Amino acid sequence: MDLLDRMRTGDTVALGRLISRAEAGVDEARGALAAIYKSTGKAHIVGITGVPGSGKSTLVSRLVQAIRTDGRRVGVIAIDPSSPFSGGSILGDRIRMTDLVLDPGVFIRSMATRGATGGLAGATLAAADILDAGGFDVIIIETVGVGQDEVEIARLADATVVVLVPGMGDDVQAIKAGIMEIADVFVINKADLPGPERLEREIKAMQSLSTRKDGWVPPIVRTVATENQGIGEILAAARSFLERGNRKDRAVANWSLRLREMLRERLLHRFADVDFQAAAEEVASRRNDPYTIIDGWIRRISN
Ligand code: GDP
Repeated sequence: MDLLDRMRTGDTVALGRLISRAEAGVDEARGALAAIYKSTGKAHIVGITGVPGSGKSTLVSRLVQAIRTDGRRVGVIAIDPSSPFSGGSILGDRIRMTDLVLDPGVFIRSMATRGATGGLAGATLAAADILDAGGFDVIIIETVGVGQDEVEIARLADATVVVLVPGMGDDVQAIKAGIMEIADVFVINKADLPGPERLEREIKAMQSLSTRKDGWVPPIVRTVATENQGIGEILAAARSFLERGNRKDRAVANWSLRLREMLRERLLHRFADVDFQAAAEEVASRRNDPYTIIDGWIRRISN
């Protein structure tokens, strides 16, 4: 059996290999990704984002346990932006899921691919597709913070959960703009600490300032991940968002952006050998004009 057939049967070694290929550069895995694409679209993809220390990993492990109790298979893609070199090695300390790792219905993978060909969003999307085609029912993508990559990844997800903690003060201010756009569900984790009411008021105040195009008002769920409190409520909130049935519209809107992004990435990859610095110097010193240079490059594509 080749890698693809093995992957379809849920063989985790084959899954891991394919994801590694996608991580090395979506280009490396293009044939395989194209072959599996039509078997994707069954899994629910849930993004979870929040600042470091907000309890995402604890929440994710609780969510995985809860989802497993009704027999569904769960894949977790944990994205660590802190180091492009840490690769799988962070798995040991960040995922307090030792018992989950032994469960064949759970697949956990860390990705640290910032700067890779195809970008982080591309590699994450590829990994999610691989897990989806491999028969996982729910795919959780855990990201840190709310940067451009997180916004892009949130776009790939069917539902995005933003984790906040009481007493964050100015941090809430700092990430407000980003989270308003991407949160489908707000989680106030560490609700055992002082101040969850105040944070909830702040989120509600934010929500009253602007309404979403789709009319959804993201529910606010209080949790104490360490005590396993509120986990079912997160799943219920995500489910009610997913059940609104606008998944297709969302997918079309996302693909409309993503296709452009993929084309841009692919084209840039085709021009990987171009000395942009030298070309920039030619243009800046008026030895050549940018229009002629671009025309020359475009001719290369059509050849
Ligand atoms: P991450 O960096 O966002 O993945 O956060 P972690 O899951 O590693 O959690 C950071 C710390 O917060 C750990 O020491 C957790 O035990 C603790 N923690 C997680 N959830 C809660 C909670 O609900 N209440 C309290 N008091 N601590 C929590």
